[in-house]
Amino acid sequence: MAKINANYMKLPGSYLFVEIKKRVAQFREKHPNADIISLGIGDVTQPLAPAVVKAMHQAADEMAKAATFRGYGPEQGYDFLLKAVVKGDYLARGIKISEDEVFISDGAKCDVGNIQEIFAKGCAVAVPDPVYPVYLDTNVMAGRTGELKKNGYFAGIIYLKGTAENNFCPGPPSEKADLIYLCSPNNPTGAAFSKKQLKKWVDYARKNESVIIYDSAYEAYITEPDIPHSIYEIPGAQEAAIEIRSLSKTAGFTGVRCGYTVVPQKLIGRADGDKIKLNTLWNRRQSTKFNGVSYITQKAAEAVYSEEGRAQIKQVIDYYMENARVICSGFAKLDLKMYGGVNAPYIWLKTPKGMSSWEMFDHLLAKAHVVGTPGAGFGPAGKDYFRLTAFGDAERTKEAIERIGKSF
Ligand SMILES: *Cc1c(COP(=O)(O)O)cnc(C)c1O
Repeated sequence: MAKINANYMKLPGSYLFVEIKKRVAQFREKHPNADIISLGIGDVTQPLAPAVVKAMHQAADEMAKAATFRGYGPEQGYDFLLKAVVKGDYLARGIKISEDEVFISDGAKCDVGNIQEIFAKGCAVAVPDPVYPVYLDTNVMAGRTGELKKNGYFAGIIYLKGTAENNFCPGPPSEKADLIYLCSPNNPTGAAFSKKQLKKWVDYARKNESVIIYDSAYEAYITEPDIPHSIYEIPGAQEAAIEIRSLSKTAGFTGVRCGYTVVPQKLIGRADGDKIKLNTLWNRRQSTKFNGVSYITQKAAEAVYSEEGRAQIKQVIDYYMENARVICSGFAKLDLKMYGGVNAPYIWLKTPKGMSSWEMFDHLLAKAHVVGTPGAGFGPAGKDYFRLTAFGDAERTKEAIERIGKSF
């Protein structure tokens, strides 16, 4: 019998969404006529922008003719999309990134999960708590942790605790981390690093020769002027950080699948005494294990950067952020403490009356017929918090907030 990768056995089951489903199903069984509204969705709901769909149709037609058909494309992405990314996301902000530093991918989850394999097993890893679970789980799978402890933490991981005191923007730890995952704007807290806070991280990484893996999947939702859209807005960050972006939340590509990872040429790792470019390693990894994103998808992604596309996706983001505003202003009238909702489509509620996040879940389901996500699912520090999302329908979101208001 083949021995398995026993690190997988260290992972707890994906308990969160299974448990949510189970509790909702039980409730429905007892209350078949209840009109349940979900503010728990971590997925977009609005359709693709017309400019994007048009580009997809045109690309599909090209694939139908021998003269314009395309087979395998470059693993790193087509030039037209690399150029659009460099120009639209970097040059436009005064950041110099070259096309050979960008790697088009099928999304941020894959990249953020795969990137750890170019680093040594012995690297000390720092992850925020609470955060998107992929950073931690993929390092557990790779054997960079010990066992899961009773308190919910893995042995051997440096946790960066987000609390109300630090506004859910933890600073660098006292110990040395080799790999640091940062998520800004953050899922689930909605918090985003300011330039000053991010500079502390870049300085720390340069001093300790660590690498920051910067997930900015929600960059397009930033509204405040002092919040950096890219970590490369911080001087020296090209020697300290890999940046991962996605069109999933930016342009509704959760089902289409396209994102990218920037690995600057200046970013160096060590192999014994030698200095190695991480860009070379990631290129080697992608060329071997990845076949690139489909031509049709990359054409769709290119359209996101067109003038028309930009205007259309902005309307959709504004729609979601109006929901966020409705949620925040609704709660401001209640005595509920909340965070986020300004630079991200997530609202992070402190549970009232000493409720645990699961008690809050049960309360909202029973009393308001509203489903959200218990903070405990994003890490132990989330146990007294609750996540609501702005990805729903505007009318239903309003209704949900009125119902929540009446439930307390
Ligand atoms: C949704 C999300 C992503 C996007 O992942 P894709 O694979 O590109 O769909 C990445 N990071 C975070 C924190 C997210 O919430």
